Amino acid sequence: MQILDGNIVSKHLRAQVQEEVAQRKAAGKKIPHLAAILVGNDGASMTYVGAKEKDCHEVGFHSTVLRFDASITEAELIAEVEKINNNSEIDGLIVQLPLPKHINEKRITETISWEKDVDGFHPMNVGLMFKGLPCFLPATPFGIIKLIEHYQIETSGMHCVVIGRSDIVGKPMSAMMLQKNCTVTICHSKTKDLTSFTRNADIVIAALGIPGFLNGDMIKDGAIVIDVGITRVADATKKSGFALKGDADYESCATKAAWITPVPGGVGPMTRIALLLNTLHAVKA
Ligand code: NAD
Repeated sequence: MQILDGNIVSKHLRAQVQEEVAQRKAAGKKIPHLAAILVGNDGASMTYVGAKEKDCHEVGFHSTVLRFDASITEAELIAEVEKINNNSEIDGLIVQLPLPKHINEKRITETISWEKDVDGFHPMNVGLMFKGLPCFLPATPFGIIKLIEHYQIETSGMHCVVIGRSDIVGKPMSAMMLQKNCTVTICHSKTKDLTSFTRNADIVIAALGIPGFLNGDMIKDGAIVIDVGITRVADATKKSGFALKGDADYESCATKAAWITPVPGGVGPMTRIALLLNTLHAVKA
């Protein structure tokens, strides 16, 4: 069994981005600038935005975080997004989700100019992705593709089972694996006899948010297991009081898999680097 190491690969890609930014600086070209909108004070959202800001600084991007009170109206937030759409200094914009209940997330996502939509959530980018045309790809599945490519994993003709059909992971992941010439099966909460699919899969991508769901009995020998799940589980032995658990039961899957992503240190760091790659792409477009 071999590890698909997201820490190592993301570090390698980060150095490439850093180098490209340095070259742009030396040549007097525009430095990528990512803006993030954060509404309210949800702890997890603040952590995610903080990490994205830190990532930007590390590679030499400019970053701006616009913080708004949870009482902001939908119309006011739309006006703020439009201001950024029209600001030529800013190349990429993300609106951290979830938003307060009185704001329609779909309307906000669709207000972001698709040319600055580095999260790849705008319907224009979703359509381009399904057609296999250049676009911003959602960070998590894009990061997984980068990981697979780094390790030169053969995907052509492989049967890939994606568990989960969310707009941010499962659905775009299946489109991207199809683009990589896999035969793709999408399983979800209504799938009957899910194990009959996973046992026949060359590649299993688990993105359902149930810790330890995929176990060794559910995969075939030599399978490639990509674990997207990250769930906080109480753990008294940790200083923080919790541990991060993936959707795969690592111990039992590792005994049969040819390749596996650990949690943490697999898909998570790849998601972060993918957003930086999209932002770099935005300034070049
Ligand atoms: P989601 O809740 O939006 O979607 C979960 C999907 O799993 C749904 O489509 C549902 O049909 C399916 N599902 C639920 N129960 C199932 C079952 N018993 N059998 C089969 N399918 C089932 O979640 P999401 O946003 O796609 O995220 C999934 C997981 O990935 C979560 O743990 C999340 O925290 C994690 N995640 C990790 C990263 C990362 O960077 N590592 C990024 C995004 C999401």
